Amino acid sequence: MVYQNILDAMGNTPMIQLNHMVPEGAARILVKFEGLNVGGSIKTRTAYNMICDAEEKGVIDQDTIIVEPTSGNQGIGLALVGAVKGYRTIIIMPDSVSEERRKLINHYGAELILIHDDNNIGECIDECLQTAMRMAEEDPNVFVPQQFINPANPQVHRSHTGQEILEQVDGPIHGFCSGIGTGGTITGIGETLKSANPDMEIWAVEPEHAAILSGGSIGSHLQMGIGDGVIPDILNQNIYQDIYIVKDEEAIRTAQELASKEGIMCGISSGTNVAAAIQLAKKLGEGKTVVTVLPDTAERYFSTPLFEE
Ligand code: PMP
Repeated sequence: MVYQNILDAMGNTPMIQLNHMVPEGAARILVKFEGLNVGGSIKTRTAYNMICDAEEKGVIDQDTIIVEPTSGNQGIGLALVGAVKGYRTIIIMPDSVSEERRKLINHYGAELILIHDDNNIGECIDECLQTAMRMAEEDPNVFVPQQFINPANPQVHRSHTGQEILEQVDGPIHGFCSGIGTGGTITGIGETLKSANPDMEIWAVEPEHAAILSGGSIGSHLQMGIGDGVIPDILNQNIYQDIYIVKDEEAIRTAQELASKEGIMCGISSGTNVAAAIQLAKKLGEGKTVVTVLPDTAERYFSTPLFEE
């Protein structure tokens, strides 16, 4: 079996049972490991789908410059898609995101514009967006996919990620939880899983210092990729029944345990998701199945507290 290019190898990531982190009497926890996806994260899927969607609609052509404000993985995904498809790609991101992400984007041949994060990620992301929109106004060849409002983002999680989960899991899924960046993951997967089992329970997960769905305010936190300080347009706020809040230390400790107890090298927001999944599994109890996603690989966090003792 030969793939025509790297993007054809995307998706169909493994679903893995946790064996050493699940408390006695709790539900089984299954994790979909997107760190093993092409490009090392779940966001290659959305990058590819947003670009294919724009191509199909005739919105972009070979002269198009892709410009996107992003806190990281979406930029890596777009840089990868741009490399394979031959688009010039410019990524605008806060200077607070990990150095590895910047290097990966450059390594895929994309350009980078860094905006200073003055300890307010919400404001900084907004400035990244303003910069992208200014570039689009000044140059008609600039296309900004706008992952926070682009329906092609949640759509790929309905048609692919969510569908893969249904095909991989034997029996009904009783619980699902996910942190929220653009909300594409929880909306798309949540809608697909819920239509298969309307009685299931879905939790949104927020960092302690970005718990805006819970009425909190936005500060700085370490759970990169989620808790950007906005309630995204594409987020289906009716898809989750409860919100669980995770502290930075808990997210990091859980991600470290995923490596040391389960052998799964994943990023900090994967720790966030599993910390919540453990609580959901305790609530639902033995005999039930809880699913979550591990959005990316640990290998883009060497310079962060994830790798401190
Ligand atoms: N975790 C990480 C590491 C991410 O990069 C993202 C994407 N921003 C998410 C979680 C959240 O995914 P979504 O944008 O689909 O809500």
